[in-house]
Amino acid sequence: MAYRIRQDGIRVSLGFVLAISLAGLQFVAILFVVLTSYVSSERAILDHARGLMERAGANAVDHTKRFLEPAAEMTEQARRVLNTGLVGTTDKDTMERYFFELLQTETNVAGINYGDEQGNFVYVMKSDGPGPYRTKFITIEDGVRTTDFIWRTADYEVVARDSDPLDPYDARTRPWYLKASNLDRRIWTNPYIFFTSQQPGITVAAPIVFEDDGLQGVVGVDIEISDISDFLSDLQVSESGAAVILHQDGSVLAHPDPNQIKVLNDDGTLSFANIKDIDDPVSRAAFANFEGGTVTNFDLPSNAAFRRNNYLGLFEPLEGIDLPWTVAIYAPENDFIGEIKKNRARNIWIAAGISILTALVGLAIAEIILRPVRAFAVRTSLVSQGEVSANAPLPKTYRELSKANKTLIDEIAQRRDSEAKVQELSRDLAHFSRINVMGQMASGLAHELSQPLTAITQNVDAAISTAKESGTASEDLLTILNELDEQAHQGGDVVRALRGFVRKDEGKTAVFNFNELIDQAKRLMRHEAEENHVKLIYVPAKHPMVKGNRVQIAQVLINLIRNAIEAMAAADTKTREVLVEAKAQEDVLLVKVKDTGPGVPEDVRLFKQFQTSKKGGMGLGLSISRSIVENNGGRLWHDAEAAGQTIFCFTLPRETR
Ligand code: ADP
Repeated sequence: MAYRIRQDGIRVSLGFVLAISLAGLQFVAILFVVLTSYVSSERAILDHARGLMERAGANAVDHTKRFLEPAAEMTEQARRVLNTGLVGTTDKDTMERYFFELLQTETNVAGINYGDEQGNFVYVMKSDGPGPYRTKFITIEDGVRTTDFIWRTADYEVVARDSDPLDPYDARTRPWYLKASNLDRRIWTNPYIFFTSQQPGITVAAPIVFEDDGLQGVVGVDIEISDISDFLSDLQVSESGAAVILHQDGSVLAHPDPNQIKVLNDDGTLSFANIKDIDDPVSRAAFANFEGGTVTNFDLPSNAAFRRNNYLGLFEPLEGIDLPWTVAIYAPENDFIGEIKKNRARNIWIAAGISILTALVGLAIAEIILRPVRAFAVRTSLVSQGEVSANAPLPKTYRELSKANKTLIDEIAQRRDSEAKVQELSRDLAHFSRINVMGQMASGLAHELSQPLTAITQNVDAAISTAKESGTASEDLLTILNELDEQAHQGGDVVRALRGFVRKDEGKTAVFNFNELIDQAKRLMRHEAEENHVKLIYVPAKHPMVKGNRVQIAQVLINLIRNAIEAMAAADTKTREVLVEAKAQEDVLLVKVKDTGPGVPEDVRLFKQFQTSKKGGMGLGLSISRSIVENNGGRLWHDAEAAGQTIFCFTLPRETR
């Protein structure tokens, strides 16, 4: 049904739009809050992380410098002592003692050595055994080389001695010796893994130059740098972040896991691991994808910070010390913002959940709002189609709708009533005005006719008396005069009765001969019948005496005859006959007025007031005739079953006494 589709349409469009809009707005609002708070907290946290890393980097740089600087100072001190001759460069025993004492002051220093231009060598180093200190002497005397070892306690007591005539070591060929003697200044070697201890280390070395005798030899201090790794492992950057020390060539000098930095070469020697090869997934990920793939290729600016591949990083070069080392600190972003990322994802899901919930609630609300409205709309549509009465019980709706409905019903009822009050009034008015006009016309006519009729009766009476007195008048003349007298009297009666009828005068009830009434009516209608070429026939009753208001019943008869004449005339009927037939039945006289006309038009409701098919008709004749007949104790009806004829019948109570 059309209205159903429309109602569904209302629900789908309004409800759906309401729910989707609510959910969409909600989602956008929550998303906006989630994302802006995510972005701002992410920025704040990353700033904080950057600060943390900068502090850790500065810390690592500081520590490393503090670690290396004493060794540099020690080298400087030894250089001064040897340069000034405080300890003779050829006095190997004093030198051993001096180196021993120096070594005891610094825990990070692994060993101190001096090699000279002739190939002599003094090396005091920390040892694992048989004593905590070991001295190596290489002595060249008269072209003969001897290599001796002495192990000592912390109190400088000799624990053991040894010698190795095959020892091939020559300090003059070592990188530290060559670099310091060539550059003629204090130098740092590249880091290397110490042969004896297998630990990573570097040597700081300075040339011993006599003013008048030139280069004498080189003093060097070995430092084990594995302690820096220990420090780095204690340096907590973040959960999985770390700090490493990188050499310019990309090798890792210090790492929180010291085992990571050494690689065994094919020839059995150990060297430093490169940052890109290091077996640590976090640092590998942090340093992957750098241009060129190795740190060597970077131009590392001071304090260079990076944020790449979800890693935060920072490069802090070791400044103020002549070493191409850089502290690199890195940490996965998620160590800092992982939680808020998780939060963001969770919040987006929550937002989606809330939005779906809102949509469902919106749909439910829309349904609750629209259900009664829909019911009301359906009902209104049914009422307007006339399928349901406006007074039928209202579906459960809002109070407002109920009120609106009540007002509507009241208004409809009032309008109907007023349209009906108005119709009736206009009908009554029309009726009264017509009756009034008719009454006036009838009384005027009666007034006009009564005088000539009176004059006629008086003259006829005079004529009869004159004729009788003269004695010459024939019987025929007297009969005519008598009939004339009677007719004139009857004419006066009809006129008076008509006036009385129109004035709603009850008239007088009397017994009369119905055959005579038919005869008189025929005479009254003769002129009209002739004009319309209608033949009037009547069949008198055998027992014609009836009781009633003669004038009123005459009116009925004339009405029926006139309707018959008019119907046939209007339809231009070929055979035009009106047959008036009276027949006595048990208690009543049955009168039939038949015509050969077209029959009653279908749309005319007989005996209803103002039902007429005629141009100038009033539609009152039949209804008035019926009430007259009924007032006189009879019935009046239309015999609808008569085929080919139009028959109106009425009865009157018979007078049988
Ligand atoms: P009116 O004659 O003013 O129309 P009536 O009440 O006398 O009012 O008649 C009502 C209507 O009944 C007529 O207009 C006519 O259509 C129909 N009617 C009455 N008598 C006949 C008849 N004999 N034949 C056909 N139609 C008739």
